[in-house]
Amino acid sequence: MTLPAILLKSGREKAVARRHPWVFSGAVEHVSGDPQGGDTVLVCASNGEPLALGAFSPQSQIRVRIWTWDAQASIDQDFFRARLQAALRCRQELRLFDETDAVRLVNAESDGLPGLVVDQYGGLLVMQCLSCGVERWRETIAECLVAESGIERVYERSDADVREIEGLPPRTGALLGAAPDLPVLIQENGLRFWVDVIQGHKTGFYLDQRDNRKRVAAYAKGGEVLDCFCYTGGFALAALRAGAGALVAVDASPAALDLARQNLQLNGFPEAAVDWVQADVFQHLRGLRDRGRKFDLVILDPPKFAPTSAQVERAARGYKDINLLAFKLLRPGGTLATFSCSAGVSMEFFQKLVYEAALDAGVQAQIVERFYQGRDHPVSLYFPEGTYLKGLCVRVG
Ligand code: SAH
Repeated sequence: MTLPAILLKSGREKAVARRHPWVFSGAVEHVSGDPQGGDTVLVCASNGEPLALGAFSPQSQIRVRIWTWDAQASIDQDFFRARLQAALRCRQELRLFDETDAVRLVNAESDGLPGLVVDQYGGLLVMQCLSCGVERWRETIAECLVAESGIERVYERSDADVREIEGLPPRTGALLGAAPDLPVLIQENGLRFWVDVIQGHKTGFYLDQRDNRKRVAAYAKGGEVLDCFCYTGGFALAALRAGAGALVAVDASPAALDLARQNLQLNGFPEAAVDWVQADVFQHLRGLRDRGRKFDLVILDPPKFAPTSAQVERAARGYKDINLLAFKLLRPGGTLATFSCSAGVSMEFFQKLVYEAALDAGVQAQIVERFYQGRDHPVSLYFPEGTYLKGLCVRVG
């Protein structure tokens, strides 16, 4: 059977040759064979030489996501089984299950499966299909996942905004096995958390911050801590366990705060240990500053301010604003743990924004640590865009 083919423009073969997994629409000279969304296509150099196999996406600017650079391969159940086996083996070998039972098992492009995210929450898998190619193979992938992981329940959370760009409607629900009993209980670094995989953000929990929660907590002992954008209490609980003296935690979402309160109780901390505040962080920080409140550790873990590179400028103002306010709330000798999960904001650019905030706040400040996403969110060397989470630990003088 001949596959539909994508002929690249002359001079536009470089990215594919360098093993970048995306073929942009602007690099395509000609499409033959009338492929539909998700169909496997043969990507060819301008001289017709076959280079790779990928999944076609008719609407997205990313016209093809590459499955393999072996143009002779077959994209079938065996292909997906092998890729999933490799991803699962990686997590086993990283010994992540010593610390937690909630792990990202498949990290999309960086695990050779563009558009596929799979998170394990104890005895449940949560799967996100974010590209036409994964959408086409979702049932095959789900069956292979069950066979390879031994976990029988797969819940689908294909409701991320990026699906719209691919021309795919949102879809959620039990994909294999029974629907999960809510909330789902997980363990992380000796703490327990309830996770709402159905209504919660992303697949339910910010697994990418696991290591950082532990590292940031090390600065909490005996001090007053302010956890901004606290979600279900990840950083707050880690700080408490590390001996924080007092804790204020702020988030805009009542549902997240509700679960955060339950998580506090679940771990046996007294109810009064945390002052949970439902508020807009920007406004609340101004109020705290105006009242002259001071903290020893401030954590800023905001949502993606720049979902696309077009929004980077607006995002920059947002980051600078909250970091400036945070610096003003710190006691001398205090620590700021500040993050950005916008892929369009590099570590270098983020550092510049934090520097500008420190300058405007008039504080002496030094970077003592840098943070990235956890090891279960590896980044393919051929796909540097996969580094989306970055953070700085800054000590003020
Ligand atoms: N630190 C968390 C994850 C934070 S995700 C953890 O470790 O689990 C970002 C959070 O910011 C979400 O919970 C969202 O509800 C909240 N949020 C978004 N915009 C906000 C705003 N303007 N003010 C307060 N919270 C906001």
